[in-house]
Amino acid sequence: MIAVLLLSQLTTMQAQDAKMKAYVDALMKKMTLDEKIGQLNLLTPGWGIPTGSVVSTDVEKKIKEGKVGGLFGVIGVDKIKQAQKLCIENSRLKIPLIFGSDVIHGYKTTVPIPLGLSASWDMKLIEHSAREAAIEATADGLCWTFSPMVDIARDPRWGRIAEGAGEDAYLGSQVAKAMVKGYQGDDLSKNNTMMACVKHFALYGAAEAGRDYNTTDMSRIRMYNEYLPPYKAAIEAGAGSVMSSFNEIDGIPATGNKWLLTDLLRNQWGFKGFVVSDYTSVNEMINHGVGDLQTVSAMSLRAGLDMDMVGEGFLTTLKKSLTEGKVTQKQIDDACRRILEAKYKLGLFDDPFHYIDEARMKQEVLTAQRRKEARDIAAHTFVLLKNNNQALPLKKSGTIALIGPLANDKSNMLGTWAVSGDPQMSIPVLDGMKSVGGPSVNIIYAKGANLSDDTLFAKKINVFGTRIDIDKRSPEEMLTEALTAANKSDVIVAVVGEASEMSGEASSRTDISIPESQRILINALSKTGKPLILVVMTGRPLALTEESELATSMIVTWHAGIEAGNAIADVLFGAYNPSGKLSATFPRNLGQVPIYYNHKNTGRPSGPNSPKFQSNYLDAPNSPLFPFGYGLSYTSFSYSDINLSAASLKGNQRLTASITVSNTGNKDGEEVVQLYIRDVVGTNTRPLKELKGFQKINLKAGESKTVSFNISTNDLKYYNSDLKYDWEPGEFIIMIGGNSNDVKSGKVNWVK
Ligand code: BGC
Repeated sequence: MIAVLLLSQLTTMQAQDAKMKAYVDALMKKMTLDEKIGQLNLLTPGWGIPTGSVVSTDVEKKIKEGKVGGLFGVIGVDKIKQAQKLCIENSRLKIPLIFGSDVIHGYKTTVPIPLGLSASWDMKLIEHSAREAAIEATADGLCWTFSPMVDIARDPRWGRIAEGAGEDAYLGSQVAKAMVKGYQGDDLSKNNTMMACVKHFALYGAAEAGRDYNTTDMSRIRMYNEYLPPYKAAIEAGAGSVMSSFNEIDGIPATGNKWLLTDLLRNQWGFKGFVVSDYTSVNEMINHGVGDLQTVSAMSLRAGLDMDMVGEGFLTTLKKSLTEGKVTQKQIDDACRRILEAKYKLGLFDDPFHYIDEARMKQEVLTAQRRKEARDIAAHTFVLLKNNNQALPLKKSGTIALIGPLANDKSNMLGTWAVSGDPQMSIPVLDGMKSVGGPSVNIIYAKGANLSDDTLFAKKINVFGTRIDIDKRSPEEMLTEALTAANKSDVIVAVVGEASEMSGEASSRTDISIPESQRILINALSKTGKPLILVVMTGRPLALTEESELATSMIVTWHAGIEAGNAIADVLFGAYNPSGKLSATFPRNLGQVPIYYNHKNTGRPSGPNSPKFQSNYLDAPNSPLFPFGYGLSYTSFSYSDINLSAASLKGNQRLTASITVSNTGNKDGEEVVQLYIRDVVGTNTRPLKELKGFQKINLKAGESKTVSFNISTNDLKYYNSDLKYDWEPGEFIIMIGGNSNDVKSGKVNWVK
């Protein structure tokens, strides 16, 4: 029965593909060379939202002349309608434009930054957030999102760690799939689904020294095992497009890298969609030092790049390159076909105005229901790092001193890459605390400190509007006000951390601590002797060693989106019991970076007393401050010993690993139960542990549940030095726990 169904599905797909091919063939027969090259051109008009340092010129003229395949950065259904009309009414073949945008974490109803979303470890929730974003964005005329960003990042100096799912290939792959499914749904031609664009292909997150756009260089086995899986997972989930990255790989910029864009992506992985460059990344190959504009444009097309974002190298040089034999007609045709196919799949040939419906925009965007969901999503992403004396949740009585530069702030709640969001629509923590706390709580607010006192730094951060607002009052005056409030209170809640633009693109830092102005405040507050709750907003893992000592409780809330203030208040007052777990390691200090849980043992692994000649530091332990997978709850969980269904296995047999998790506290809660495996001896050295599964479970106070993982040899496979993906017989350690550092383990012997 299933076979019959699959066969009929396959036949339908083949028939649809044949229909699409016939349509595109017929259209391409009518197209001139210029019109074909025009399809490869993606522009961002001056009347849009600039997300890079240059904007396109003469866009209207170029659209009319059929020299534009798509636009991005145009927000608003009216503007999109106008541009599509211009194209349909004036261009010779009336080929509709594709409209893209960076819909990264919600559209107008902004949800937490992706690093935060991944900390929920809740794939249904993540898929849902992408689905909601697609509904809103398509209601506003868009049909293509430059998301998901699936770059593995292990260096918190890199500001774009905020935009991805953290450090782990397995978790990153699950998130990548969930987001693609959410955006694209089950049918791309519906007017409320949009095409995903997996980015930045590839290895962009491995920029040396965490400096944005910097060189990357790594071994193939690290690439295949640790960095490439999330891109592959997104492609297997059906992502319609891929964006090439700014960095080089093996000395060749990704945008012009044939091994990457053709051999790996198309030939090995079978990708059938189209590849767009990043913002002027074709032109930037001149700076990389591989040739002039004509050379790098031809090189990119030959490598397998289909669409040129903003730079117009394709538009202005490909014809010449064809005449000179530097590219072939087939290469231009293939790129053009892939873009036309994407438009076909989106239903744009049936109706270029398919996504344009002003009524839908009014009904679907920023609705009360969507905001409610954004609030709920946000609460699921917060990670409780410390909670001494059960200082949290707060009681709805007494006096709370709500202090800090982010305590009554709207402009930083949305986080980086919220280009379509309006900061003024966001809820500051003060409002959320008042509304959730109700009349029985007395809240005294004081700013206490600037996000940073450094005016030069503030200027760099404030490029899209004021994010760091340097107060007219002196730091001393603000501190005195805060201490007066603190001294009158029963508990201090200090909302501190990073401005939204301190992470994201071109926002790398060489210091990953909380800025000094705020550290002075935190120190002074801790000296009052009152319970000190730190709410840390951040776009990256921060070094919080001192803060974690001074705070009674500490919770990381990332930049939580439009409903940040309400969601934070929900969690602080206990309406939602925090369940987030870190998707990226929090180091003790910057010197430990890069630091990640799935590292190798080395030949001289660190021993208990850190003797000389072992792989240690003199001045800090090797362990992080908070490991990958870590996060507390208002209740407590205990784990039984691990139970393995067999001690030895052969070939394709399966292993069941189970553990009983008990809620030993007095509140209901959720726990992310994590499965790690270590391959003890391999042909290649293997990590000390690798995440291979997880389940997020609900446990009522006092309740116990047995959680089982079904393990097959697929979970044991890795890419060896020959890039062969297989498993090797031998001993495996199976570990289950509530974070990567705290696990129960058992051993199996698995033979071929
Ligand atoms: C970023 C991409 C983004 C593009 C378009 C680039 O600068 O690297 O992530 O999608 O701009 O806004």
